[in-house]
Amino acid sequence: MAVNVVNYNEIVQELQLQNAELVAVSKLQPVEAIQALYNLGQKDFGENYVQELLHKQPLLPEDLRWHFIGHLQRNKVKYIVPFVHLIHGVDSFNLLKEINKQGRKINRVIPCLLQIHIATEDTKFGMDEAELKEVMDVLATGSADLTFVNVRGLMGMASFTDNEETVSREMGRLKKLFDNYCNVNTSNCHFDVLSMGMSGDYKIAIKEGSTMVRIGSLLFGARATTLQ
Ligand SMILES: *Cc1c(COP(=O)(O)O)cnc(C)c1O
Repeated sequence: MAVNVVNYNEIVQELQLQNAELVAVSKLQPVEAIQALYNLGQKDFGENYVQELLHKQPLLPEDLRWHFIGHLQRNKVKYIVPFVHLIHGVDSFNLLKEINKQGRKINRVIPCLLQIHIATEDTKFGMDEAELKEVMDVLATGSADLTFVNVRGLMGMASFTDNEETVSREMGRLKKLFDNYCNVNTSNCHFDVLSMGMSGDYKIAIKEGSTMVRIGSLLFGARATTLQ
């Protein structure tokens, strides 16, 4: 349950120098640990599972900003749209449309990131470049009504490997895509967030231009493998 305060302070300082933000990934961590980190000043937390997030959210301070970073099923979107701060894992056009639909129902614009598949492993979710282009074309031209989403950028996960060159290359590709679409500037799409980097590769991510890292184990220690 303990939070690693030394790591937290180090990471916060490092990120401040680079103008990058920290999302503390609290999946499978108890609310006491989240509260402890919140008490140190951390406001942004990331969760992967809808059920777990719905359990924790009412037990923690209201101004805590919840990021949804996991794979989101369309039938669960409605549960998180009332309060979610940023959905990182939008990996299909259909999911984006569902978020828009649920946002409209409660008259709330939902901030989103499009998840791009950059790793060589095919176990990771995300759009390829063609799917991204399709979504971006629609957003840029306003050819579909997507007024209840606000697409703020891209998210990606590099391969799990010790090979730093591979990780750098994959992240560099994501940064390039991000830069390519930075000129799109409409009422519901304007890129200002590039979410990449985790405990094992956040230093590389910052070098490659990340503006938001998602860090769990360095802050909270190892995770339980199942829900408590
Ligand atoms: C779990 C998770 C993280 C954090 O992983 P750590 O290695 O514990 O830092 C970051 N991003 C996503 C999408 C995750 O699922």
